[in-house]
Amino acid sequence: MPAPARPEGHSRVGAQARAAAARILAKIARGHIETEAIFAEVHPDRCSGCRMCNEVCPYSAITYAEAERRSQVVSALCKGCGTCVATCPAAAIEGRHFTDAQIYAQIRGVLQWDSSHASSASCATGAPTPAPISPAPAG
Ligand code: SF4
Ligand code: SF4
Repeated sequence: MPAPARPEGHSRVGAQARAAAARILAKIARGHIETEAIFAEVHPDRCSGCRMCNEVCPYSAITYAEAERRSQVVSALCKGCGTCVATCPAAAIEGRHFTDAQIYAQIRGVLQWDSSHASSASCATGAPTPAPISPAPAG
């Protein structure tokens, strides 16, 4: 009885899997694994221990410390996706190197650049000049 035909693309998928395994083995052979510098951090003084962040993390990177009644991020597991940052009702989590203040500063910078170029664009299009930008929120 002939062997069943392999699905189309089988060899390509197998080659990709072997390449991925080789890359992982190369990292393990180095004796250490580099992780992203961007990861979330819990401010313990603001954390109420509600555990909402524990539920939403897609990488199971947040643990709950029963003794302190606070959540903690395991930085080696965190991928910096920001889901917990957006979820926390107490604003107790921030992305390291990606704080709220830094994000607001980037938004302000983009909007100011846009405003400074809007006057010349208005001449061409007749569109109204954008309203002035509000000051950044504290924090
Ligand atoms: S969601 Fe915020 S307040 Fe709740 S446990 Fe997590 S860090 Fe603490
Ligand atoms: S940033 Fe994403 S991966 Fe990191 S702890 Fe929060 S939800 Fe998990």
